[in-house]
Amino acid sequence: MEIKKSVPLKEMTTFKIGGPAQYFCAVENIDDLAEAQQFAVSNKIKTFILGGGSNILFSDQGFNGLVIKIQNDAVSLKQEISGKYAIQSGAGTPLSKLVAFSIKNSLTGLEWAVGVPGLVGGAIYGNAGAFGSEMKDHVSIVRTVDRERSDWSDLVEISCDDCRFSYRNSLFKENKDHIIWDCEINLSKGTKLEIERKVLEYASHRKKEQPSLAKFPSAGSVFKNPVVSEDVRKAFEHDREVKCRTNKVPAGWLIERCGLKGKRIGDAVISEKQANFIINLGKATAEDVIILISLIKMKVRNEFGVQLREEIQLVI
Ligand SMILES: Cc1cc2nc3c(=O)[nH]c(=O)nc-3n(C[C@H](O)[C@H](O)[C@H](O)COP(=O)(O)OP(=O)(O)OC[C@H]3O[C@@H](n4cnc5c(N)ncnc54)[C@H](O)[C@@H]3O)c2cc1C
Repeated sequence: MEIKKSVPLKEMTTFKIGGPAQYFCAVENIDDLAEAQQFAVSNKIKTFILGGGSNILFSDQGFNGLVIKIQNDAVSLKQEISGKYAIQSGAGTPLSKLVAFSIKNSLTGLEWAVGVPGLVGGAIYGNAGAFGSEMKDHVSIVRTVDRERSDWSDLVEISCDDCRFSYRNSLFKENKDHIIWDCEINLSKGTKLEIERKVLEYASHRKKEQPSLAKFPSAGSVFKNPVVSEDVRKAFEHDREVKCRTNKVPAGWLIERCGLKGKRIGDAVISEKQANFIINLGKATAEDVIILISLIKMKVRNEFGVQLREEIQLVI
């Protein structure tokens, strides 16, 4: 495994923003990961675990330490227990590969993940979800390397209940000692045609509602959907002619109602298509994005009394 010096991070993220990593390595097996950890300890430097880089804003100054990209992407069908099928997947598997694997094996449950550009480890870390489903609905076991332990090649098995999953949150966000290495995902047998139909439906919904990542680099939804007062919820329901099941409303709606669509700082712009996306028109800096984030938070707080919280991870 090669540890490289001064590696540009912008190309490792979907936002295409960020300065260089002081050190960078990609790990495909546990021994490489242990070696990377040892390098960081010996050199007394920080580490940052990188997945697909689709939920991250790196600083313009980059990262002063070692960025470890997780690349174990093996997927296999493990076993069938009373109609449920367990897939074993490395944390470095792209969600797109997992969706393709489940279609091929006629397994249903992960259709919602089509178009989410991250890897399995990052998706578990943030309990990624869409269309009413989340990682927590399918993950049964997560295996991690616990940096606090002396033997880094000894994996710790954590059950779904102990992962403390909640809306875009997990144990792994709170306890950074765990590096997610692989997991087991439970899916049910379905009909291939029906699974493909759902995948197409979700993909076309994304195409309609979100700016294309190929044209407009972004990190997806910038803010979590907040819990709001009854008045704000009613205003949303009236405006969109829908009924909310909870007291949460889309952050994008609040931002749109503040008249912020199209607001631009440098090359960072609030998407006209989806107000909860900030897109990079080419040369946006992390600073541009941070200024825009601060502006959004201030306007939404003043207009609705709601404090927005970031869904993206700021590594600044
Ligand atoms: C166009 C677009 C659409 C999106 N749609 C959705 C959506 O519908 N739903 C949704 O939830 N998200 C969505 N996202 C956000 C993002 O794709 C997901 O959150 C994704 O799961 C992040 O995974 P990643 O591998 O890219 O993580 P990264 O961005 O690389 O990392 C995110 C965080 O996870 C940590 N991490 C990553 N891997 C590991 C690991 N193995 N062990 C420990 N920590 C780790 C990192 O340190 C970092 O703090 C979207 C993003 C884009 C750009």
